[in-house]
Formats: sequence, C-alpha cells, structure tokens
Amino acid sequence: MIQTDIAILGAGPGGASTALKLSHLGLPCVLIDKADFPRDKVCGDAISGKVTTLLHRLDPAIMARFHGMSIQSDVWGMRFYAPNGKRVEVPFPIKSEAGHAPGYVSKRIDFDQFLIDEVRRRPDIQLHLNKEISSFKRQETGWRLQTADGDFTVNCRLLVVADGAHSRFSRTIAGLEKDTAHHAAALRAYYRNVGDLSERGFIELHFIHDITPGYFWIFPLPDGMANVGLGMRSDILAKKGLNLKETLRWIIEKHPTISERFKDAELIGKVHGFGLPLGSKPRPISGDHYVLVGDAGHLVDPITGEGIGNACYSGFIAAELAEKCVQENDFSAARLQAYDIRVARVLGSEMALSYRLQKLLAYPRVVNFMARVVAGNQRMMQVLSRMYADFDLRLELARPWFWIKMFFTGKR
Ligand SMILES: Cc1cc2nc3c(=O)[nH]c(=O)nc-3n(C[C@H](O)[C@H](O)[C@H](O)COP(=O)(O)OP(=O)(O)OC[C@H]3O[C@@H](n4cnc5c(N)ncnc54)[C@H](O)[C@@H]3O)c2cc1C
Repeated sequence: MIQTDIAILGAGPGGASTALKLSHLGLPCVLIDKADFPRDKVCGDAISGKVTTLLHRLDPAIMARFHGMSIQSDVWGMRFYAPNGKRVEVPFPIKSEAGHAPGYVSKRIDFDQFLIDEVRRRPDIQLHLNKEISSFKRQETGWRLQTADGDFTVNCRLLVVADGAHSRFSRTIAGLEKDTAHHAAALRAYYRNVGDLSERGFIELHFIHDITPGYFWIFPLPDGMANVGLGMRSDILAKKGLNLKETLRWIIEKHPTISERFKDAELIGKVHGFGLPLGSKPRPISGDHYVLVGDAGHLVDPITGEGIGNACYSGFIAAELAEKCVQENDFSAARLQAYDIRVARVLGSEMALSYRLQKLLAYPRVVNFMARVVAGNQRMMQVLSRMYADFDLRLELARPWFWIKMFFTGKR
C-alpha cells in the first residue's frame, strides 16, 4: 500500500502537468494511469500557445526539448472558412515566449508520451501505469484508491482527479452530471495527402451551413498527415438529428469545395469519436480532500474545443494550492474552495466569452458577416493573430472593455 500526501488520478496533460508543477515546487506525488504509454487520445492534436507558455514558464528546458523533436508541426496561422465559402487567413507573426512557433499540432500519442518522459525526469514523481482505479473510499484523512483486483492501493490526503471526460469520480462522487447543452461530441480521423494545405502549418476551421455552431477542421501534422475532424454541441446535434459520422463522410466526399481537396487523400486507421465536457456552465470543481482538473472538471473551451491548455492551467493551479494545503495541513472542502475561485478567475471570463460567441456562431449569416468584418479590419486581424501566441492578451480578450476600447479608439 502506498501512502502519500498527493495522488493524481490520470496522467494525461492535466495530471502530468499537475505532477510536474508539484515537483518544481518541491512536493512529491503519486501519478496513476490505467494506460500503458504511449497511448492514443482522440483529439484535434492542436497544442496552443497556452500550453507552450505554461510549460516554458515552468522550465524553459521542457519546451526546448519538445522543439528539438520531430513529433510536431509548427503552426504559424489559422484559416477560417465562413459558410458562404469566404476564407479569412490570420497569420501569427510573433514567436512564442520560448522563441519558437506560437503553437503546434502533435499527435496525442506522441505529445502525451513526451509529457510522461518529462515526468520520468523527476524522481519525486512516483509514476504507476497500467493501474485502473475502480474504487474510491473516503477515509478520515483523505481518500483510498484501489484497482479492482485490490493489488494496488493508494492512500492520499489530497486527490487530484484528472481522469478525463469520462471521469467516474467526477460523475458519481463530485456530482458533475453530463449536460448536453454544455457538452460536445466530436470525431477525429487521420488522413494522408489532403490537398492545398498551408505550407506554414495554418490550422483550418470550416464553418459549414447546418453544422454551425460546430465546425469541421483540418490540422496539418508532420509527414504529409493531417488531423481531420468534426465537432458539435450534443444538444444541437440531437435537435438537428444529425449523424456525425455520416456528416463527416458527406463533407469529405460531397462538399462542393472541401471534397476536391480529399480526392487523393487516404484515410489512415479508423474514425474515432469522444466527448468534450464544456466549461460554459460553472460547476463546483473541488470538495473534501479533492480537486477536479482538466476534462474531469469540465474545462474545455466551448467554442474552440481546446482543452489541453485548460487542463495544464488547472493542474498548475491545483499544484500551487496543494502546496498551501500541505503547509497548513488543511485539505477541507472549505480550504479547497480557493481552487474553484482561482480557476474561475483565470478561465471563467474566457469561457463566458467563448460561450457568447458560440451562441452567435449558430447563425450562418452572422458567421458570414463576422468573416467580412474581420477580413476588412486590420486592427482586428492583428489582435486575432497575436491572440493565439500571446498568453496575457488572451486573458485581456475576455474583458468586454478591451473590445469596446478597440472598436471605438483603436487602442488597447
Ligand atoms: C475530437 C476531439 C478533438 C479535440 N481537439 C482538441 C485540440 O485540438 N486541442 C485541445 O487543446 N484540446 C482538444 N480536445 C480536448 C482535449 O482532448 C482534452 O481537453 C484533454 O485531453 C484533457 O486532458 P486531461 O488530462 O484532462 O484528460 P485526458 O487527456 O483524457 O487524460 C485522462 C487520463 O486519465 C486516465 N484514466 C481514466 N480513467 C482512469 C482510471 N479509472 N484509473 C486510472 N487512470 C485513468 C486515462 O487513461 C488518461 O490517460 C479535443 C477533444 C476531442 C474529443
């Protein structure tokens, strides 16, 4: 039996970054995952500037090592396609804080393995793979976690729950039920030889009639591969009576312009689907001796579907609070409320803005109008182009005052 102050359930980006941050704070922890890495995770594989900035600020050597690998394609811009076919190209002219590309696309099988390698560099992180936790028992001093065969048991004072979108703890113990108005379903496929990809790794978001506010994406990967997918809010999907797989097939085979680009493309492997618990509805994400990190805490951006950055960010916040809890010997629900408050402060306004935008994007005409306005507004283009890489600007963007100033004075 293992006895520890802090146990982390799940070694995806949320769990791994919590462990790395704890280690840099000088706190040992136990990190558990049911999978044996490398393991796949259905995702768009886009690693935003939020992720790279957080990791770089933790230790510049981490991003230097990542950049030295060949598992990623650099992202230097975005292409938006409005329902009327208008294309708006937004280049990202500035480098990340680490001096490299502002973002990347990297298959999760590789990126998550990279994080596990970083975890293995830290001797104070006790990593246990192939351990599927199936029982959680509340004890006087914290939680007892156990595998079904009872061969692996961990007692901890603080449990960091980072076991993803299907987290059982989150659903059955923390009470975070799936709400289809704040949940998305998405499909991912890997293709080789998609035509007309940007040479500078621009990621593509296509807003198509009948599937807004969801979107179809093409994210270029190394070696002529691309991550291709389609996502939509679950309640709207049900209301429209759409079948995601058939819709994806229709886009690739029949869409008037997109299908042209797939005529020589080859599907590699199968099409896979997974859920995204969106952060558009504020929920309690801590309790007695536990905090919920990343997808387990429903922290995916409601408009972009970006969840890796928020998983890392919430993990860092959890680690910083854990340090205080250990010092004060207080893991009570009341003390851990500070986690909810801090997460709401740094992510809440960003989520609220995304949710408002998501509602607007339900109307194809509005998307067409927005594309026209953005394309004709240099100032807006500059802001959008910096937004992806500039971590601090993203926080500012969530403030209505920022937009009012920009529209009326052209300054920020
Ligand atoms: C189709 C799709 C496209 C997406 N595209 C993007 C994108 O391009 N960019 C982006 O930023 N985000 C994207 N997301 C969201 C992103 O994938 C998630 O937000 C992110 O993986 C959350 O990280 P996490 O660490 O919280 O959870 P996960 O990455 O899901 O990790 C959870 C870990 O917990 C482990 N685990 C689960 N149960 C147990 C158990 N009982 N015992 C032990 N271990 C357990 C799992 O094995 C897993 O390793 C997408 C999601 C989907 C579905």
